[in-house]
Amino acid sequence: MTRQVPVRNVPFVLTTIGDISRTTYEMWAWCPECMRGRELDLDQLTVQLGAEFPYMQLKNVLVCTACGRRGCVAHFSHKSGTTR
Ligand SMILES: [Zn+2]
Repeated sequence: MTRQVPVRNVPFVLTTIGDISRTTYEMWAWCPECMRGRELDLDQLTVQLGAEFPYMQLKNVLVCTACGRRGCVAHFSHKSGTTR
């Protein structure tokens, strides 16, 4: 018999945006220039960049929608206000 273990209790390494999209985390981009941040659409990023795209390289492709600066910092956090 196989035991189903919830993802959150399994030690894992998050390296790609596909990894993160399979968790209960959400991705945020933060602009160091104008200090604005917004949530990233992981589904859209996965379509555009591929699930194997390393999230550490997101700073090379993210452009701030407010000031147009390239080099936004991507980070992830627990989803807030959602029940799964
Ligand atoms: Zn900006």
